[in-house]
Amino acid sequence: MGLAAAYQALLDGCDVDILEASAEPGGMAAHFDFGGISIERFYHFVCKTDYPTFELLADLGIADKMRWVPTTMGFYNQGKLHPWGDPISLLKLPGVSLISKLRYGLFAFACVHRDRWPELEHKSAKEWITRSCGQEIYDRFWHPLLHFKYYEYADNISAAWIWTRIRRIGKSRKNIMQEQLGYIDGGSKTLVDALLKAIEQRGGRLHLKAPVRHVATENGRVTGVDAFSEHVPADAVISTVPTPLISRMIPDLPPEWRARYEAIHNIGVICVILKLRRSVSPHFWVNISENGVEIPGIIEFSNLRSIGDDAIVYVPYYMPITNPKFSWPDDRLREEAFFCLQRINPALTPEDIVDVKIARLKHGQPVCEPGFAAKIPPVQTPIHGLQIADTCFYYPEDRGIAESVRLGRAMARAIPGVQP
Ligand SMILES: Cc1cc2nc3c(=O)[nH]c(=O)nc-3n(C[C@H](O)[C@H](O)[C@H](O)COP(=O)(O)OP(=O)(O)OC[C@H]3O[C@@H](n4cnc5c(N)ncnc54)[C@H](O)[C@@H]3O)c2cc1C
Repeated sequence: MGLAAAYQALLDGCDVDILEASAEPGGMAAHFDFGGISIERFYHFVCKTDYPTFELLADLGIADKMRWVPTTMGFYNQGKLHPWGDPISLLKLPGVSLISKLRYGLFAFACVHRDRWPELEHKSAKEWITRSCGQEIYDRFWHPLLHFKYYEYADNISAAWIWTRIRRIGKSRKNIMQEQLGYIDGGSKTLVDALLKAIEQRGGRLHLKAPVRHVATENGRVTGVDAFSEHVPADAVISTVPTPLISRMIPDLPPEWRARYEAIHNIGVICVILKLRRSVSPHFWVNISENGVEIPGIIEFSNLRSIGDDAIVYVPYYMPITNPKFSWPDDRLREEAFFCLQRINPALTPEDIVDVKIARLKHGQPVCEPGFAAKIPPVQTPIHGLQIADTCFYYPEDRGIAESVRLGRAMARAIPGVQP
């Protein structure tokens, strides 16, 4: 979001400094070196409705980097891996009544084909799915997914937010039977690098290892930021750091505004990334609902973007960072993640492991409860020249590159005095 805002501000004639806390640019979309392969720390796929991403790729002259792949989903349940994600797979799923399957099919169809659904704003996903599809579908499919992502928040997640997630994936299809997902050739780093190049060409300055400690204001106007060892003067500041960090960084905001940022909760995420000699399954994504397997699913990334001869699998652990598991040492997570993969594919042995890396993020996903829209503060703060947003500001859409790019560019166009 920050890089897209910087790029747009430069296009509109501003002089821009980007202050990034980390040693690497790209935030959640950053890469790491996985034994000679440059790959995302957190899995990234593109959907067919990610229009702001396509527009930015075109602006940067790299539209030809988009790749589209027919992908499939699986569902691991009651000791078996089932195909998933199309009407035939649903009808063939054993142990679920026909009436529940039909209700679920209609529900999925409505999710994909509705463009507005305001009635969902004040409903929880639990209440909505149970009413629409029945208890059987909720218990068998949705409860474990929500529980192993949100834990104590699981019963109070916004139905509107779940709907837009189902819709985004559901619309990314070639036809009703064939899902089609995309990736950027070279990974999200290709986009980050192209943005940085365009920013640099237009005179923008990127400061790495430069955590902003304080946003300075005077007489109700922003005057700059204190980062690393210096003060960077500015007439306008766009903050795209996670909102839980805002209050401490900008104490000059009125108390009622700080309270609004503090009321937004995030969960953390840990991705255990395994390079394996053997594929786990033919699916890109496997949802899991199985006793003793405490993750919502796995992503076999190499079934989307082929990277050499090995399989690359992400095992995501989402949870509130207060959960003791979030502090587990890498070895323990690695062991459990591999155990989960072995449950899905018992032919896997420890000898299949080529390499393992672990990526952790404290602010991995905002928690959007029913009625969340009313909790989001306006992007323009009461301090002149100061705009603030993070990935929850485009709720009910889920956190994603496309929406972050759209909002980042919109914030740049809203800088006072800028004529887009
Ligand atoms: C597990 C996971 C899977 C994902 N999968 C997908 C996917 O498949 N498709 C997709 O489109 N999107 C996906 N995303 C989301 C996507 O990566 C983000 O939406 C996108 O990168 C935009 O993020 P952002 O810039 O809004 O926030 P961030 O990337 O979080 O950027 C915030 C930046 O602020 C910096 N920062 C924090 N504090 C300070 C400070 N005090 N001073 C200066 N800088 C600071 C951080 O270091 C970071 O670089 C995924 C994310 C995760 C975590």
